[in-house]
Order: sequence, then C-alpha cells, then structure tokens
Amino acid sequence: MKIKCDTCGGEFYPEEIITFAVRAGESKVEHICLSCLSKELNYVNFGDITRKKLGIQCQYASRYVHGKIEGWPYLGKDLRFKNDPINDYHSLQIHKDDVEEFVRRVKGHCQEREKL
Ligand SMILES: [Zn+2]
Repeated sequence: MKIKCDTCGGEFYPEEIITFAVRAGESKVEHICLSCLSKELNYVNFGDITRKKLGIQCQYASRYVHGKIEGWPYLGKDLRFKNDPINDYHSLQIHKDDVEEFVRRVKGHCQEREKL
C-alpha cells in the first residue's frame, strides 16, 4: 500500500520512509517522500544564519528578504527561501547554497550605509 507525501502529494511505498518529522509547535505527524526530504535538507534555518554570520536578529534580517519595508533594501532577489518572511519569519529557511551570497549582500549594504 502506498502513502501520500504531505509535501508534494505524490505517492510512495512505506519502505521508503526514513523519517517521521514532527514540526515544532505542531503535533501532526508528517509523511515525506525521499525526494522532498532531500530538498528539505538543502534548506537551513534563516535565523540561525543571520545571528551567527551577521549578528542580526531574524526579525530584522527577514526584512532584507522581502524588501517591503522602507529603508530595508530588497537583498533576497533571486535567492531561494522557504516560508513567509513577512508573517512567519521564525520558520523562514534559506537554501544552503544561497547563504554565502545573502550574507555577502547584507554585509555590503551595511558597509555602504556606514560610509554615509
Ligand atoms: Zn514528496
């Protein structure tokens, strides 16, 4: 019997299940197929990155991701993020291959601002 993947809606055999993830704050069990799981593993927690690499809290750094607040430029252009940077920045994730570029852009912006 096949099981439905909660992420992509595709069906897979239970033998393929290697994890049951319980999301923080939610008590629901999630089924995830291997291809979705490998995609998920490519994303890292955005707040961890900004605190460690930039010393900026998630709440503020997420403003660079969407650029919709005046005075905060849109630095997230063409980079891969998951979840809503405006309403749910705590669960915001960034693709691990885009971390370096995002950090570079924010640092560059901060340096420019200091010159003014
Ligand atoms: Zn899937």
